Amino acid sequence: MTDHIPSNLEEEIVRLKQERNAVILAHYYQDEDIQDIADHVGDSLDLSRKAAQTTCEVIVFCGVRFMAETAKILSPTRTVLLPDINAGCSLEESCPASHLAAWRHRNPHHIVVSYINCSADVKALSDIIVTSSNAERIIRHLPSDKPILFAPDRHLGAWLQKQTGRDLTLWQGGCIVHETFSQRALLDLKRKYPQAQVTAHPECDEALLRHADHIGSTSAMLQFVTQSSYDCFIVATEKNLIHTMRKAVPHKKFIAAPVQEGSCDHCASCPYMALNTMEKLYLCLRDGTPVIDMESGLMNAALRPLQRMLHASRNENEGQMITLS
Ligand code: 13P
Ligand code: SF4
Repeated sequence: MTDHIPSNLEEEIVRLKQERNAVILAHYYQDEDIQDIADHVGDSLDLSRKAAQTTCEVIVFCGVRFMAETAKILSPTRTVLLPDINAGCSLEESCPASHLAAWRHRNPHHIVVSYINCSADVKALSDIIVTSSNAERIIRHLPSDKPILFAPDRHLGAWLQKQTGRDLTLWQGGCIVHETFSQRALLDLKRKYPQAQVTAHPECDEALLRHADHIGSTSAMLQFVTQSSYDCFIVATEKNLIHTMRKAVPHKKFIAAPVQEGSCDHCASCPYMALNTMEKLYLCLRDGTPVIDMESGLMNAALRPLQRMLHASRNENEGQMITLS
């Protein structure tokens, strides 16, 4: 089929979505127009839960590939579509499964905790998965006599180590978006807006996090700015989260944290998330492709640590120790 794009793009997306019995899930880092047309917008944990619970036949995942793969693993009978199959992640790329397997082999007594931003192969080699929303709580409730290997984000890992006091050996991966913030420019901005509160994602460097008033996942950042009595915020994460913040509390002021000189954009933008566009969303609904698929053995192996994560994150399981057998 040709790539003809209709002028009434939004209407066509809604029509095709109904025709295909599809649900559109979008991460907070997606462009504004995609967030606005999605059925659910959320962080990695919210979207995993939505994918696991949906009754729709098709899940269109507007996010990056590891998120769409997670949706497929949690909902294997659904068709999962990703508007641009090249939407990867620098954290995923930093951690090839063969290297993780060797690391695990060299440390047989450690628990392997992997951040959800990794491939399905890495998930399959992990004891439990975490997102930035539940990582602290999960790590606090892992058996205390066992040391932990944490992959792949070294900044999130270092922050978790500080929060929980647990012994974490860190994989040296990083997010190219959260590593672009400039500490010097942030300090200049704080001087310019002394009344502003800084909220930052734990994928940022420790040097940057030191200046934050609040640190948390994208949904925690959203909750912080919504509930805070302050009305001006400097936001250190991917720029599109500010769209959701403005919709939630339109009377408050949001300033994107500045990036280092020489970065190609003025504020932090994820080049992988940006590959998904409204046009590609329309085409993937129209053509039913690109489809996310994996070999069933891999999906089953990756499902176990994901299910452990979802189980440990349930409110009714709050405070319970996690068993890995
Ligand atoms: P959360 O939305 O789970 O905080 O994750 C941020 C992120 O970088 C996703 O790639
Ligand atoms: Fe990966 Fe960073 Fe983009 Fe998130 S923001 S998808 S961690 S590259």
